[in-house]
Amino acid sequence: MPAKPKAKDIEEYRSKRHFEATPEPPPEEEQARKPAVKAAGKTASKTAVKVAAKSAPKKSSARAPIFVVQKHDASRLHYDFRLEVDGVLASWAVPKGPSMNLGVRHLAVHVEDHPFNYKDFEGNIPEGNYGAGSVIVWDRGTYRNMLADKPASKGRRTMRQAIEAGKLEIELQGEKLKGAFALVRMEDSDDQWLLMKMKDEFAKDGTQEVIKRRTRSVISGKTVEEVAREGDKQGSKGRSAGGS
Ligand code: MN
Repeated sequence: MPAKPKAKDIEEYRSKRHFEATPEPPPEEEQARKPAVKAAGKTASKTAVKVAAKSAPKKSSARAPIFVVQKHDASRLHYDFRLEVDGVLASWAVPKGPSMNLGVRHLAVHVEDHPFNYKDFEGNIPEGNYGAGSVIVWDRGTYRNMLADKPASKGRRTMRQAIEAGKLEIELQGEKLKGAFALVRMEDSDDQWLLMKMKDEFAKDGTQEVIKRRTRSVISGKTVEEVAREGDKQGSKGRSAGGS
């Protein structure tokens, strides 16, 4: 078996999905903003790229970067923790979800970057497709890269540099998640990280987990179960589509 590619980029996102069969957004906008070498998509015409570039989100310098946590009831329930970095969503799959409790460290598997417009995605990924199951936007908001404010001598880093280095410190301003969190890559691992709350006024100590207390979407108010039932009623367009 060939080694898994190291780059966790949008091309990996694209190659795993059949966009005629899944309601997930194709990564057109991100392609338009990437260097031309990477923009050689099958169907991307020059006009399409121009149009996409116009609707691309404002540069991150103009506003705070966003984060989103999607609850994804796939073959294994998990929470997808995504941070806007350079126009895409750097992503980690967290089987046990985020915790506001100090001292709780949950495995977070670094997965491929997702397109920026994935941030609003809720719905059902049909059977036979990658990640089949229902998705809600469990939390969202903005974040601050705490390492960007450090003196150069104390480890100042951009988000990309921090991901490379395997250590992020971020402050979240979500509806459910608030305050400082750390994401730290485990030693000798390529994609296994740990997500944990850092000490601050928002940190809790052994209270009931926020994922148990608050189960609904911050967009629609629905649970993943409700979204799944709606999908069953409607039927899904891609039921017979192949894929792994
Ligand atoms: Mn997922």
